Formats: sequence, structure tokens, C-alpha cells
Amino acid sequence: MNQYKLLIGGQLVDGASTMDVINPATGKVCAQSPRGSVDQANAAVAAAKTAFPAWSTTPVEERRGALVRLAEAMEANIEKLAEQLTTEQGKPLADARVEIGGAAAFIRYFASLDSLSKVIEDTDVRRVEQHRRPLGVVAAIIPWNFPILLLCGKLGPALLTGNTMVAKPAPTTPLTTLLLAEIINGILPPGVFNVVTDANDLGGVLTAHPDVRKVSFTGSTATGKKVMASAADTVKRITLELGGNDAAIVLDDVDPKESAAAIFGGAFANNGQVCLAIKRLYVHESIYDEMVGELVKHANAAVVGNGLEEGIQIGPLQNKMQFDKVRGLVDEARKSGKIVAGGQVDDGGGYFIRPTIVRDVTDGDRIVDEEQFGPILPVIKYSDPEDALKRANASTFGLGGSVWGKDAKRAGGYAARLETGTAWVNKHMDITPNVPFGGAKQSGMGVEFSEEGLAEFTQIQVINIAK
Ligand code: NAD
Repeated sequence: MNQYKLLIGGQLVDGASTMDVINPATGKVCAQSPRGSVDQANAAVAAAKTAFPAWSTTPVEERRGALVRLAEAMEANIEKLAEQLTTEQGKPLADARVEIGGAAAFIRYFASLDSLSKVIEDTDVRRVEQHRRPLGVVAAIIPWNFPILLLCGKLGPALLTGNTMVAKPAPTTPLTTLLLAEIINGILPPGVFNVVTDANDLGGVLTAHPDVRKVSFTGSTATGKKVMASAADTVKRITLELGGNDAAIVLDDVDPKESAAAIFGGAFANNGQVCLAIKRLYVHESIYDEMVGELVKHANAAVVGNGLEEGIQIGPLQNKMQFDKVRGLVDEARKSGKIVAGGQVDDGGGYFIRPTIVRDVTDGDRIVDEEQFGPILPVIKYSDPEDALKRANASTFGLGGSVWGKDAKRAGGYAARLETGTAWVNKHMDITPNVPFGGAKQSGMGVEFSEEGLAEFTQIQVINIAK
């Protein structure tokens, strides 16, 4: 049995108290996690601040090397980390392996990037250089859907550019992050990377802390607004990756048989608990019935169960709160529309809901207007693509969106008019570390990944030299 510890200043330490972690496949406690206190959060920030001067002036080649060793350590421990992730998060083991392997790949990608500094002008009168300086202590606040991938998408660029970090996982998924901290401790100098856990009570401590210079936050829009308000007092840099209610628009020239599998995957990956999953599907009336029929086949064929068992495609919802929320939406969808697949809720302890397809719903229904963040997809009929586009854009969210059509040029024309950070054509949810990712409107601020994301962990400093 693993002894989970916080990581503060290079020391693995007990939490001030402990808290239960639930396995969502059983609804039972699977382990005790340390729970950090306000003092421990402050100690982690102090450790990161102490480590900053040396780390930020360490040659970038050494920082790069440390990140590569970190990725190697993750890859060497992929089975252990993946099993832990499935146990606390619920996703099938195969998906957990993809998350850990993907997280290591994200770190490797950032480790490969060059300095963003450049010479703007070098003339007889002056030499002007633009540098990218690290900011200082970064607080990384993570949700429960991709605990390790989202952490590493922040850790890689933050540490490469010379910042130090205090990471805080979500209260329902702390264990894999603690296990990772134990595995990689020693690769980085003490205090460069710290982990504290909480019961939803230390995020605000970090975002208000005067020694935290940047908050890289992924989570809900409601919490993102609190982060923004809290950061104002000390003018912290913030990157916010928030909620979404991604629309996919299926044009009339689509063959439902050909596209249904990809659409189903775009909606139900990670049990629908993805910020940029398809959460509203607009289908042209001429192919509506056929598309619904194809989606129903996929939903009925999906193998749902405990992710630690072989062959499982979809695990449980991650936590009781989310389970109850999605259950409520299923009940409501029974009244506002017609459930044609799924809808069954397993009350046997685990948080299972079968992939659910709802037809004959429309804008104004809660299941269409709200981010469900779970395995239930509303399919909405439209007759005019201009109208579908208008409805897709009539949301306070603007994370991702997609348009599907045989004529990719026509589909691309509509995609370009989606008010979203990412618009895909004939696919949904293609995310790689070299492509910037961010939300429009209330889905976020700033971007992550790519060189643009790397730049967000730095401050421009201009050196302007007279000649
Ligand atoms: P959440 O906002 O409840 O929690 C996210 C994190 O914020 C947790 O670590 C939590 O402990 C912490 N937190 C809570 N109160 C805080 C406060 N006052 N100040 C600072 N931090 C605080 O979100 P969740 O329920 O864990 O995750 C689901 C949400 O995250 C969904 O809305 C989803 O769309 C969104 N999400 C967005 C992205 C993205 O990249 N855009 C990715 C994944 C999830």
C-alpha cells in the first residue's frame, strides 16, 4: 500500500490531516490522501520562492535535461501510474496509459523548444533585444478529468522557462499526482516542484498569495471567475482554461454511417468528462433520423464498467457530485426530449450511467444549454445551416466546435464562423502539444501548449542598448 505524501521543498511530508479518496467504480474508499493545511500551502510557496533564483539562472540545457529525465521516469512507471489513475479517476486502464504516456510526451515536447528571445534591431544607433524572463512561482490548479495530462501541460513550459511551481490537484483525484511527485522527487532541485492537496479549500490561498506570480488554472468557469478576482489584487498573470459547451454541426451531405463513430468518440471520450467534448450535436433534418440511429448503435455497443477490468470502454463518472448532476439531467431529458439509448443509472455503488442519446430536444432545454460534462448527448434537428451556426454561437462558452461535411471547403467556411478557440472540420477533440489551445468568451483566457503557451509562463523584458 502506497504511503502518499505531499512534496514541499524536496521533502515528502504527511499532510496536516487526511481525507478519503473514493474509487468511483465501487463508491468505496480506496485510500487515504494527505490533506494539506494553509500553513503547508504557504510553506510550498515559500519553498518554490526560495528555489526560484537558482532554477531560473540554471542553464536552459540543464532544465531541458531535467524535464527529459522526468518524462523518462514517468514512462518507466507508466503501469503503476495508470493503475493509480484508473482507481481514483475511473477511466479505463488503456485510457489511463494513454494519459500518462501523453503527459510524458507533452513534457518532452516542451523540453525540445528553443528560447523565445530575439534581437529586434541591431543598427548603428542601438541594439534592441527581446527576452522572455520567467515569472517566479506558478500555481497550477488542476481539475479531476485529466489530472496528469493537464498538470504536465503546465509543468513542462513553466519549468523549462525557469519558473518554479506549486501544483494542487482536485480533491477527488489527488493520488496519482502524489505518486508522480514521489517518483520524480530528486530529479529536480528541492522546491522547484511542490504538491499540496486540499478539500477544495487551498485554491484561494494560492491564487491570493502575494508570492505567487502566475496562476495556471484549469477548471470550471465559475471557479475561474473567482481565480480572476483573487488574482487582481497582486496583478498576477493568469491563464484560464474553463468550461465549454461545444457544438458539432453535421451538414446535409454527411453519410451518418461513415461519421457516427468519430462523432460518438468526440462526445463520449472520458465518459463525456472532457472540456471540449461534443456537448450539443446539430444534425440536418434530412439525415437526422439516420444519424440518431447510428449513434444509438454505438451507445448500445459500448462496454461500460470498472476500468481496471479488461475490455472496458467507458468507466464510471468521476465523483458523486458529477454523478448526481448528470443523473438529474437524464431525468430532465426524459421530459424535455426522448431518450433513445442509455438512460440507465447503476445504483450498485459505482457511479455508472450508460452512454445516453437524447433526441427531439432543442435550444432552451437544460441539456442543450448547459455543460453536462457526462455521458449524455442531445441531438438537435435543424433545417438551415445558418440557423445552426447562430444557435451554436448563442452560448457564453466558446471553447471548441466542429463542422462535419463531405465538402470540406463548405464545412470549413462554417467552421471559421464558430466563435470558439478551436474549430475542427470532420473531427472533434484533436489536441497535441504543438498546437495552441484556449477558449473564446467565458471558456477562458490565454492559451496553453505550443510556443504561444510557453510564452504565457514568461514576461517580456526588452534590453535596449545605446551604441
Ligand atoms: P472546479 O472549478 O470545481 O475545480 C477545479 C480546481 O479548482 C480544483 O483543483 C479545485 O479544488 C480548485 N478550486 C476550487 N475552488 C477554488 C478557488 N476558489 N480558487 C482556486 N481554485 C479553486 O472544476 P472541476 O469540477 O474539477 O472540473 C470540471 C470543469 O473543468 C468543467 O467545467 C470543465 O469543462 C472544466 N475543464 C476545462 C478544461 C479546459 O482546458 N478548458 C479542461 C478540463 C476541465
